[in-house]
Amino acid sequence: MLTIVLATHNNHKLEEVKNILKNYPIQILSLSDLKIEEIDVKENKKIYKENALKKAKAYAKYTNYPIMSDDSGLEIESMNFAPGIKSSRYAKLHHGYNNAFKSIFKKIENKSRNAQFCCSIVLINFNKEPLYFEGICKGKIIDTLPNTIDEKYFGYDPIFVPFGYKNSFAKLSSKTKNKISHRARALKNMISYLDKHYHL
Ligand code: IMP
Repeated sequence: MLTIVLATHNNHKLEEVKNILKNYPIQILSLSDLKIEEIDVKENKKIYKENALKKAKAYAKYTNYPIMSDDSGLEIESMNFAPGIKSSRYAKLHHGYNNAFKSIFKKIENKSRNAQFCCSIVLINFNKEPLYFEGICKGKIIDTLPNTIDEKYFGYDPIFVPFGYKNSFAKLSSKTKNKISHRARALKNMISYLDKHYHL
């Protein structure tokens, strides 16, 4: 069994990662399992993998376990692929996802609704060098925005419909999302790599 610490305080990410990896001999520990307090890591890099590495490294002095970190975002074609790496900040800047969705809908009115979720995962304290795995899920922004959306959902899930499906990530079952999401794809790449090189 390989034990990996997931460097996040985002419970949605934690749940998804645990769920996606549940049938593999990998045990995911959260920072709270190890009683490691949240560090305010400035995610100021230009690409996902660099932010992911920065987050993972911030926790390296607290544990000898391998550490995994996920940096992700939603890229909207007609917004020049924003909010992308700034997805979390975009929501904060708008004081929550409902306002962020309204702003997005204004910006993309009568324009392309193509979008994609991207995920970059890094694994450190395992190999000599950090290992990176990427995943993308392509889709569209929903056509009409409901008046208010429950903020219990994960980030941009309520406005993103993956290609081949009729419902948003928020309305699809977690089983379906965790089969096709950007995070699932990045983790599948990680599994294939670990299986090939370390016979998981
Ligand atoms: P970070 O990787 O912690 O910087 O945050 C990524 C941000 O992208 C999240 O806070 C969400 O706003 C958004 N995001 C990433 N993955 C997902 C997802 O699977 N569903 C919905 N929003 C996501």
